[in-house]
Formats: sequence, structure tokens, C-alpha cells
Amino acid sequence: MGQTGSSPPPAPFPPVDAVRNVIIIGSGPAGYTAALYTSRANLQPLMFEGDVPNIPGGQLMITTEVENYPGFPKGITGPELMDQFKAQAARFGTEIISKNVTRVDFSKRPFEVEADGEIRRAKTVIVATGATAKWLDVPNEDQAKNRGASACATCDGALFRGKELVVVGGGDTAMEEAMFLTRFASKVTLVHRRDHLRASKVMQDRALKNPKIAFRWNSKVEKYLFDDQKFVNGVVLKDTVTGKTEDFACGGVFVAIGHEPNTSLFKGVLDMHDSGYLRTKSGATGATSTNIPGVFACGDVQDSYYRQAITAAGSGCQAAIDAERWLESEGH
Ligand code: NDP
Repeated sequence: MGQTGSSPPPAPFPPVDAVRNVIIIGSGPAGYTAALYTSRANLQPLMFEGDVPNIPGGQLMITTEVENYPGFPKGITGPELMDQFKAQAARFGTEIISKNVTRVDFSKRPFEVEADGEIRRAKTVIVATGATAKWLDVPNEDQAKNRGASACATCDGALFRGKELVVVGGGDTAMEEAMFLTRFASKVTLVHRRDHLRASKVMQDRALKNPKIAFRWNSKVEKYLFDDQKFVNGVVLKDTVTGKTEDFACGGVFVAIGHEPNTSLFKGVLDMHDSGYLRTKSGATGATSTNIPGVFACGDVQDSYYRQAITAAGSGCQAAIDAERWLESEGH
């Protein structure tokens, strides 16, 4: 709970060679929330927000309307929401650097974080590098993003009310997204590249029984088709067995072929699941702790299950509190 009224202006940023209390890597809802909490705790965090093309702000920067973030009853666009997060973190003295971190060294203390050849040092590090939805990687996909192609049904599904939609993928995410989309769509066609689903039996059964879901087996999306307004109005499907192609009309495409956590920086450094997501301690206290004391992880980089802006923000808050208490326990 904060005080109302204006806060004093934040102190000037420490010099480049100072050992910081906290370095935060990543700038989605998790990173910005960790920055907000650690800056209000007077820890003067330094945040690496990343650089284009790793768009600062994370996955919400490619989301049109966010209708499920509490506090915005009329909705807000993803980029606007991230601007607000950033402004709030900056207001309390977060130093934000628009560079990609290229190397970390957590084997010594203070920890080292390198970007653009410059090394910064800190007593704690909060990793909030997020995950990236995989896309199909077909030639005209960039034009389709935000113009009828989405990688998140929970975020964008409600914008496609009454339309016939395509969902691509054969795993649990594709089943879940297809079923979720039947609430809005008049029909959902699930396009899968094989004739067997990868999804769990229970999810398969639910999707196969849903009268609003049709299946196109052995089919790949070759490219997107657009109307005069440059909005997606179909896809070219290629049969993976016969090689035949066909124009398939639809009002939107949801790509659900998995996510990749952004953890390449931490390979061999932090404990990960086989899927590449970082392992954090579960339980009531220190939930964001990694295997290295003083290094914490929050948001989608350690969560393959909920993957929502609000859950990422919540875990960013936990990481900030974990870092603050860890610093205290170490006598800093
Ligand atoms: P998965 O890796 O399980 O499935 C990805 C699917 O996308 C596969 O069917 C794969 O095809 C297909 N695919 C991959 N790349 C391409 C491509 N380039 N073009 C076309 N199709 C492609 O990812 P999910 O996100 O579905 O699931 C990730 C994890 O999360 C799983 O462990 C899953 O069980 C879990 N999960 C659980 C849920 C639940 O229990 N409610 C909900 C959502 C996820 P192919 O099969 O041919 O390899």
C-alpha cells in the first residue's frame, strides 16, 4: 500500500562502475513490476529493457487490445499498457537501458551483466526475459501480425466475434485455443501438419467432440491471404501428403505451435526444465528463487502454464520482495 500525494524526485543514477542492488533483465509486465517495487524500496534498480527487434515491453507490444488486465474496464492496447508500466517504474528511479544483455556471469559476486561490451555489476539479478510465441515463419507473416493473425487467443479472441477462424497446431495449446475461440467464432478449423495430434488424450477428445471445431489433417499454411484493407481473409493450405495447395477463406488465424522461453543467455548457468523454462523454487516464501542465491526469475521465462500479463506482473512483485529480503538477510 502506498502513500498518496507526490513522491520526492528520485536520486541521481549511480555511476557506471557502481555495484547496484538489483539488475533486472527484461521489460515485460514482470520486469517492470519488479522495477516498480524495487525502486519504491529505494534499491535504485537498473533495468535492461532490450533493444529492437527484441521489442522492449515484451509480448504485449504485439497485442492489440488488452481487455483482461484489471483496472482498465474499457480495455487498453498492449503498447499503451506497457508505456504506463514503464512510466510508473521510471517515476521511482529505475534506470532503464535500451540494450540487449549478451552475457551474464553469476559465478562470482557481485554478479556481472554485460551489454554492448560494457559490464555492469549487482548484488542481485532478476531475470524477466519472457517467452516468445513461435510463429509459422512463412513469407508474408509480418504483414499478417495484428491484422488478423494472432499468437494468443486469450488476448485477441474476443476481437473475432462471429468469424470463421483457423487455429494452427496439434498440441494442447492448439486444442485449448480452438475451444476457447468457439465462444466467439462461428466456426474454428484446426489445421495440423500430421494426421495425429500431439495433444493429451483428454484435450483431443474435448476438441474432437466440439461441434464448432473442424479438422484439416496433413495441412500446412503456406502463406496468408489479405483483403483490400490488408486484413487477413484466408490462408493458402498445402496438403503435406499430396502436395496440392488450396485457398482457404477465414476471418482470422491463430498460431498455436508453442512458445519458446528466452533463456539462451542462461544455458549452463541457471537450472532449467527440459523445455528450457527456468526452474524456480515453489512454495510460499522465496518462490522466485533460482538455483543461484541472489538470482531470481519471474514472469513467462519461468511459467509455461499461466502466461498472462497479470500473473507475470504478480510474479515480478514476488521477485522484487524476494530480492529485497535476500539483500536484507545478507546484511546489505
Ligand atoms: P507442443 O510443442 O506440445 O505442440 C506444438 C504443436 O505445434 C505440435 O502439434 C507441432 O506439430 C505443431 N508445430 C510446431 N511447429 C510447427 C510449425 N512450424 N508448423 C506447423 N505446426 C507446428 O506445444 P504446446 O504449446 O501445445 O504445449 C506446450 C506444453 O504446455 C505441453 O507440455 C502441453 O502439454 C502444455 N500445455 C498444457 C495445457 C493444459 O494442460 N491445459 C494447455 C496448453 C499447454 P507436431 O505434432 O507435428 O510436432
